[in-house]
This record gives sequence, structure tokens and C-alpha cells, in this order.
Amino acid sequence: MTQVYNFCAGPAMLPTAVMEQAQGEFRNWNDLNVSVMEVSHRSKDYIALANQAEQDLRDLLQIPDNYKVLFCQGGGRGQFAAVPLNLFGEKLEADYIITGQWAQSAAEEAKKHGKINQIDIRRETAQGQASLLESSEWPLNPNAAFVHYCPNETIEGLEISSIPDTGDVPLVADMSSTILSRPLDISQFGVVYAGAQKNIGPSGLALVIVRDDLIGKARQAIPSIFDYKVLAESDSMFNTPPTYSWYLAGLVFQWLKQQGGLSAMAEHNEAKAKLLYDYVDSSDFYQNKVDPQYRSWMNVPFQLVDESLNEQFLTESAAQGLLTLKGHRIVGGMRASIYNAMPKAGVEALVAFMDKFAKQHS
Ligand code: PMP
Repeated sequence: MTQVYNFCAGPAMLPTAVMEQAQGEFRNWNDLNVSVMEVSHRSKDYIALANQAEQDLRDLLQIPDNYKVLFCQGGGRGQFAAVPLNLFGEKLEADYIITGQWAQSAAEEAKKHGKINQIDIRRETAQGQASLLESSEWPLNPNAAFVHYCPNETIEGLEISSIPDTGDVPLVADMSSTILSRPLDISQFGVVYAGAQKNIGPSGLALVIVRDDLIGKARQAIPSIFDYKVLAESDSMFNTPPTYSWYLAGLVFQWLKQQGGLSAMAEHNEAKAKLLYDYVDSSDFYQNKVDPQYRSWMNVPFQLVDESLNEQFLTESAAQGLLTLKGHRIVGGMRASIYNAMPKAGVEALVAFMDKFAKQHS
């Protein structure tokens, strides 16, 4: 097989070792002579897998005992609805911090269920770079049922790396594109959720980590499959879970442990991002328009100063095995998503290509 590096924002590349293991046991899992896809989620073998995956995730993130881990369906957007449906109790207002497209989409969904106070924290630096208002300055409502934010905006490549202090108001984070990229103090959050298709496994699955006291407040009309209480009481098996995605997520968690856990991932990810941003900043041919203190380690948008070369850049990079570099249509230009599974060699190959392309066209 030709060596390719897939920079897709999601579904994103998975670790090669995980894909090889899955391939090796595709039709004969656990010596059962059937695929893991073909066994009952109630079987002893599958339940052991499910428990192990949860335990590995708990170990990686050092999840405190007063938090439940739920393996849900419906991806990230499913949680855009599930969060307000579960967390609006007597209080029917919530703060939504707007940083970009995904935070905005979460707010739009939540508006169906209560009064949403949108706090747009997007700013520009004097140099015209996209920036954000410091979290200590956010005008939060002390009576909100919760504060929702998106620490990593996948499209704009903006990341808030320190955890905002929301006092007694539970903090809810959409970590779809940054979970497991580094250690995280879960105790600072009411709910952390993430669609799986970037740093966890195949799409469709969503992980939810929820503090015990926030479970059991859901509106009566909530669909049972979204009710955190129902899911917690059934070990996320109220209905048939996405068993294959759960299995692959479990393999990814084991792989992360073998890599040295989340501190090692943080080092790996910071180094990859630095390599790419440093190159872009050193070049007159490319640019990144995000304030350096809010640049994402996971999604790196960059533009060719001469946009007329975009198509040629995409064709030639793809021919070199550097795939899916086209930026999101809202932002334009290019975007390299460099999640946990992207090896440093992939970013090195990208920078080498970018440099060659720039020299040919300067
Ligand atoms: N939140 C963020 C930050 C995302 O990047 C995405 C998907 N790219 C979503 C939510 C939506 O996830 P899904 O497509 O699984 O619903």
C-alpha cells in the first residue's frame, strides 16, 4: 500500500496499529470464529470488552469516581440536544459561549429547549488575527443551569487551552476535536462530551463524561436513548450500542496507553503543531490568521497568499499522498487536521511538500 497521510478533520485517520489489529481479528474475534460485530452486546465476551474500554478511558483521563462514562449514539450533534434536555431542571436558562461554527450550532439546538444567552467572545487582534475574549471577562449569568463552550473549534482552528472558571454553574464542554489530545482535569467539568470520529474511533459514537449530581434531572419528554439516567443505569446498553465503534474506541484507548498516555500525547501533539505553525509563520507564501495563544493543536487552517494556486496545491499534495487538505468552505484555504493518530512524519512530509511548492511558485 502507498504511504498516505490523511489530514481529514473527521472521520479522521486512526492509528495504523489499531487498524492492523482490527483487520487481523476482523472475522475471528476472541477466538470465537465470528467478528466482534456479530456477537451480542449482552454476551460475556462483549461486556468484558465494554468494561475494559471504559476502564482504559478512566485511567487515561483519571476520571474521578463521581463521574459516569456513557457510550452514546448520535455523535456530537446528538449531544447538542441531549445536554439541554438533561440539564435544564428548574432553571431554564443557559450560557452558550460562541467561538465559532460548532459552538453556534450547539446553541441553535439548545434554543429549542430553553432560554439561551449567547456570549460571542470572538475578537480580532490589532494585526487582524482571530482571537477570543479571556474567560475571566466572560459576562456569565450566575443563574444559568450550565455554561456550554467548545474548547476546540474544528473549522476555525481556534482552541481555548485553559479551563474557564464558572464557579458553581456546571461547565459543559464539546471536546469532539480535542479530547484525549492531552491530560484534562475532569473534576472542573459538569459534562464533557465528544463525537468519536477524530480522536476516539468511528463516527456515530459519542462519549459523555457526566458528574453524578447532574444525572436524573431530565425532562420527562426526553427520548430515553438520550437520558443520562437511563444510559447510566443500563451501562450504556439501554438499546443495542454501536458495538463495533465501541470496540475500536477500546483499541484506541489501549494504543494511547501504549504510547505513554495523555502526557506523551500532549508532547507529541504540541511538537507536531509547532512544526507546522513555525513553518507557516516563517513563510511569505502561507499564512495562518489565528492569534498564537488560541491556535489549535489539532486543526491547523492555513491559506496560500496567492489563492489562485489553491487547486494546484490540492492536486499536487494529493498526488504526493497528502490527503484532504482542503479547508472548510466557511474558512476557505487549507486545513491540516493532525489528531493523535497523525505521526510526526506526516507533518514533516506536509511541511516538506509546502516548502517545495512555495519555492516552485515564488
Ligand atoms: N462538535 C465539534 C467540535 C465538531 O467538530 C463536530 C463534527 N465535526 C461536531 C460537534 C458534530 O459531530 P457529529 O457530526 O458527530 O454530530
